[in-house]
Parts: sequence; C-alpha cells; structure tokens
Amino acid sequence: MSMSQLAISFELFPPKNVDGAGKVIDAAKTLAALGPEFISVTYGAGGSSRERTLDIVSALAEGAEAPVARHIACADAAREEVDAVLRNYWSAGVRRIVALRGDGAGGMGGVYHPHPGGYAYASDLVAGARAIADFDISVGCYPETHPEARGLQDELDNLKRKFDAGANRAITQFFFEPDIFLRYRDAAAASGIDMPITPGIMLQSNFDGLSRIARLCGAFVPFNVRRAFEACGGEKAARDQATIEIATSICSRLKDEGVETFHFYTMNRSSLAAAVCGNLGLNGDRRAA
Ligand code: FAD
Repeated sequence: MSMSQLAISFELFPPKNVDGAGKVIDAAKTLAALGPEFISVTYGAGGSSRERTLDIVSALAEGAEAPVARHIACADAAREEVDAVLRNYWSAGVRRIVALRGDGAGGMGGVYHPHPGGYAYASDLVAGARAIADFDISVGCYPETHPEARGLQDELDNLKRKFDAGANRAITQFFFEPDIFLRYRDAAAASGIDMPITPGIMLQSNFDGLSRIARLCGAFVPFNVRRAFEACGGEKAARDQATIEIATSICSRLKDEGVETFHFYTMNRSSLAAAVCGNLGLNGDRRAA
C-alpha cells in the first residue's frame, strides 16, 4: 500500500480562555498542512464551554485551513436545544459533526440519567441530526467496550444502532494494544457491521493524566507503555519522544493489517501529531491546492 493512501484526522480541544485561542489556531494550521480529512473540535468536555467550542470552530472554519468537524454531545440538554445547535452549525456552513451522548452531570465514570426531554443516547442524536440536515456524521465506539456496556455484544449492538440511524463512520476510544483494535474490527465485521471504523490514537504525553483518563474510560495501559514513560522521569522531551514512538508503533502495526485511516487525539500537541505522521510517511504540505 502506498503511504499516500492513508487518511488522517485530528482532534483539538477549545482553549480554556480567550488568550489561548491563538495557540489552538496555530496548532490547527500545523495540522492542516498534513492534509487531514478533517480537524474535529471537542464539545463541553475537559472543562471547556460550549461557547468556546463555537468560537474556535468558527475561527478555524473562517481560516479554511482544513474541513472542521464540530463535536456535539446531547446529555443534559433538551432536544430542542440540541436541534437548535445543529441548525446553527448547518447554517454556519458546518457539514461534519461528531455525535456523542456525553457523560451528563455525573461526569466521566458517573451514573448517567437521560434528560427527560432530550436525546437519550447517541443513536437518537444521530437520527435527530439526520432529520435536520445532510451532515457527515462520525460517532464514538469502544474496542474495550464502553464502561456502561454489559459486554462486547452490547457494545456492538449499540454501534450498529448508530450506523442504522445514519452515522458515516465510527472513531474508537484510544487503546494501546493494536490487537485490541483488530479483534474489535473483526467482531464488528462478524456481527454484520460493514461501515468504516477508524482507530483513535492518543497523544497524551503526561502519564499521570493518561492513566487517569484510561482508568475512567476503561482503557488498558500495558506494561511496555508504563515502562516507557517511567524511563523518562520528569523530562518532557523524553516523554514527548516516548509518546511519538508508542503512537508510531501502534499505527505501523495497524497499517500492516490494512488499516488506512487514523484519528489522532492530539491534546493540542500538533508537533507530536506531525512527528507521528512524518514517521508514517506523511510529510510536507498535503493540503489540496
Ligand atoms: P452512546 O453511544 O449513547 O453509548 C453510551 C452507553 O449507553 C453505552 O454503554 C451503550 O451501550 C449504552 N446505550 C446506548 N443505547 C442504549 C439504550 N437504548 N439503552 C440502554 N443503554 C444504551 N464527550 C464529550 O462530552 N465531548 C466530546 O467532544 C467528546 N468527544 C468524543 C470523541 C470520541 C471519538 C469518543 C470515542 C468519545 C468522545 N466523548 C466526548 C466521550 C463520550 O461522550 C463518552 O464516551 C460517553 O460516555 C458515551 O458517548 P457515546 O456517544 O459513545 O454514547
């Protein structure tokens, strides 16, 4: 397979304050030069407000550096409110969304209670978005199963519901063992799912932060990853290098197994994403002319 067949996308999160906007836009420019299918911007997660998501996405879209996908989460909101956001997206020219349930008031790892007048699950949100406009819709999926799922079949049934409701592709939660993704891909195919599943590759170089998120979302952190970070001590450059090497190794193995699309959770570290893409043979300015 030629390297140029690889399709990539990147996730950014909105800045915590107005002063941080310039940095995020600079990161987006670096990422745009790598020719992604889209750059997605998270919604409401990690302490960021919905308004900032809108602001940053508008700024990115205006720069037209790369197609932008807006995440939208439906937990804790009435259906009308979510529909209004979707209509605003469409009229602002946004054609791609990443449709998520979100985690509600309890946060990640808390107990989820659907809003009485809202979309209860992501599959409901996908159906709602489809009824509003012809969005390109990505959804989340979980190779190690979602923490609330009763097992792999439950997870796959839910993924199928999201595709049946009109999703175009699924992006996985991060994982570190390539076999975890490959087994999931096979299980999805065996249960009749024939839509694209893109592996989500984590670029978090802070091991404490990484361990915390992994614990909350049920992602296994193997010994080799722990050991690689422990060997770095407190040195940031070494941790960055370890992050690049771990991500490159996951992507290379998956590429050998025929995977042609990758989504990077950049944690706004565009230099790490660029280094991994360089290792995969995606160098230089790949933007469409
Ligand atoms: P769902 O697909 O609705 O599934 C959630 C759980 O409910 C699963 O266990 C499922 O099995 C179960 N379920 C589904 N339908 C039913 C039903 N009818 N009855 C009973 N149980 C059911 N969060 C944010 O807040 N903002 C973001 O920007 C964001 N971006 C993300 C991007 C990606 C690629 C991923 C993978 C996750 C992202 N998240 C984000 C996190 C996400 O919101 C959480 O993982 C959330 O817990 C689940 O969202 P979901 O869309 O997968 O939910």
